[in-house]
Amino acid sequence: MSNKIIIAIDGTSSTGKSTLAKRLAKKLNYIYIDSGAMYRALTHYALDKKYITESVFDSQKLIKDINNINIDFQLNKDNDKYEIHLNDIPVEKHIRTLTVSNYVSRIATIGELRKHMVKVQHSLGAGKGIIMDGRDIGTVVFPNAELKFYLDASTELRAKRRFKELIDNRHDITYDEVLSNIKLRDEQDINRKNSPLKAASDSIIIKTDKLNLSELEDVMFSYITPLISNK
Ligand code: C5P
Repeated sequence: MSNKIIIAIDGTSSTGKSTLAKRLAKKLNYIYIDSGAMYRALTHYALDKKYITESVFDSQKLIKDINNINIDFQLNKDNDKYEIHLNDIPVEKHIRTLTVSNYVSRIATIGELRKHMVKVQHSLGAGKGIIMDGRDIGTVVFPNAELKFYLDASTELRAKRRFKELIDNRHDITYDEVLSNIKLRDEQDINRKNSPLKAASDSIIIKTDKLNLSELEDVMFSYITPLISNK
């Protein structure tokens, strides 16, 4: 038996956080929670209700509606993966579009909405043995997490990686659209008042530019192993 811990992985967009978190969770037999998917699902809901459009953002309407919005992760028995659901409907396919990406960071600036998301995240992390990735996991959601990573890489490399991922998943998108979306989200995530993106003072900061996934995994495991092995 090993000690179960909470691992927080924060960082800018498309640094490989979720890919790594999934790989680590599989090896450790931990639960993986993609907190960005929760903000994306909320954005999908706001777009659907037209609370946010090109010209309007009625954050008050969205806040008033928050108790009617149930976001959770349910096991898909066909592929044995936990998938994000919005009011019991699987929405993974709808939340990765450029439209959602272009609005999500504005939705994520609203403190009342963040409070609600954090409550859900706390309930998901109650049992430990969890890896959560996002922007404020080590600073706000789990400030006492046993291990915190902060990943970063150059903007161009992140845009290249994200572009490839989207094209592989058959999204109709250009590299320039991806690059400008990443710049926009970085700017909004870093400069917002509520829970801005920053490295927790006790986080391990890793630049991912020159490391491939398995090298990154090895680096991360070198910090994880001593914490989970029974002494
Ligand atoms: O992780 P992902 O890139 O899918 O996150 C989408 C957006 O959700 C981020 O750009 C950020 O605005 C918001 N987010 C957040 N806090 C988190 C996770 C994501 O504000 N913990």
